[in-house]
Amino acid sequence: MENIVSKLTLEEYEKNFQELHPPLSYGSAIAESSRCLYCYDSPCMKACPTHIDISEFIKKISTDNLMGSAKTILKSNWVALTCAKACPVAVLCEGACVLNEKGDKPIEIGRLQRYVIDNYFDHGMPALFSKKSPNAKNVAVIGSGPAGLSCSAELALLGYKVTIFEQSEIPGGLNTWGIAPYKARKQDALKEVELIKSFGVNVKTGIGVGTDISFDELYKKYDAVFLGIGLGESHALSVNGEELPGVINALDFIEQVKTEDWSSVAVGKRVAIIGAGNTSIDAATEAKRLGAEEVMIIYRRSSQDMSAYKFEFDLAKKDGIIFHFLTSPNKVVGKNFVEGIECIRMEPGKPDSKGKRSIMPVPGTEFIIPVDMVIKAIGQEAQNDFISTIPGIKFAGGKVQINSDNFQTGNPKVFAGGDCINGGKEVVNAAYDGKMAAFGIDKFLKNLN
Ligand code: SF4
Repeated sequence: MENIVSKLTLEEYEKNFQELHPPLSYGSAIAESSRCLYCYDSPCMKACPTHIDISEFIKKISTDNLMGSAKTILKSNWVALTCAKACPVAVLCEGACVLNEKGDKPIEIGRLQRYVIDNYFDHGMPALFSKKSPNAKNVAVIGSGPAGLSCSAELALLGYKVTIFEQSEIPGGLNTWGIAPYKARKQDALKEVELIKSFGVNVKTGIGVGTDISFDELYKKYDAVFLGIGLGESHALSVNGEELPGVINALDFIEQVKTEDWSSVAVGKRVAIIGAGNTSIDAATEAKRLGAEEVMIIYRRSSQDMSAYKFEFDLAKKDGIIFHFLTSPNKVVGKNFVEGIECIRMEPGKPDSKGKRSIMPVPGTEFIIPVDMVIKAIGQEAQNDFISTIPGIKFAGGKVQINSDNFQTGNPKVFAGGDCINGGKEVVNAAYDGKMAAFGIDKFLKNLN
């Protein structure tokens, strides 16, 4: 792969990665908040997985009570800045806003939330929440992504001694490393980590549970354990040539981009992304913004089957990404590095009982697309090896099984939330899980007394 670093100037990189949705000014925030109807039993609140009282926080903006507004948001969601910037609002709160039905533009809930939380951090995170007196119990939280942070914040305020074990040197999980920088920057996630630390949570980074410290040790030392471990390795393509230099996993690529040292990120001139989910779109648009000349998404099914949201699809098309639907990779070709990808055309078969069509390769339609970089974005595997070391855990369909009432696993002392229980959803779902698991842990430990 020819590395095309240094092709862009620093100014060009900054321009390419500038925020898709810039912050609102004071005047625009007040004006936008005044458009809200402050609906009773509002549909936007129901559509938010963390059930933020949206009409209340918007009403408080309109009366210039920004700290009160921040409190309303944070009491439901401890990673509210990341969510404000990265949530798919068009299919959640804003999609549910009643103004859509009236043919009006929905309230810009995400940008208003961002306005409030930016203001909160800009004012040095004043204490808005009181903490219960410390109790004698301690909880280990594995993983500092949104689920782990939410669980920790809630437990710390309930009086528990909480320690987060994070294998990366820099905390925040996918909030720090997995969100496209034109949506949210690494610093946003780190502010949220600082907020959780301000509640007394001890964040130990660079410590992998199962490698640097055994799960057994934590299990014996702590009164309860929360698993916010996310998912594991990316799925393999399982085609010849996958091991060639120039083939990379989407999350590794996105992580490199998130360092914001853009000139050092290797990117090809012609890049193929395999898969058509939201991560694929992120990788594709990031490759383009790094200066790749031609970026294409290769997907074995049709556009109707892709899991990427419509607004992500639209963004990719706007960025000039080329889509090859009903196209499946056969092998990566090249001698010492990627030189192309051999694909075969697919055709839809008969729909199954759920209406999903099977797809079949069309013999004799093989063709080679010349590319010098292949990014794999076909999902991640669960951390089976680690999970199988935990006694009593039930694991099915790639997900840790929990009691949905309290997020307790098959082992009464172990709770779980986020991607490891749902197979990979939004940050906001993980934030909700972590919070609910904290309540589950609290109830469990109180009942032991
Ligand atoms: Fe405001 Fe729309 Fe929510 Fe109603 S549904 S409270 S108008 S944001």
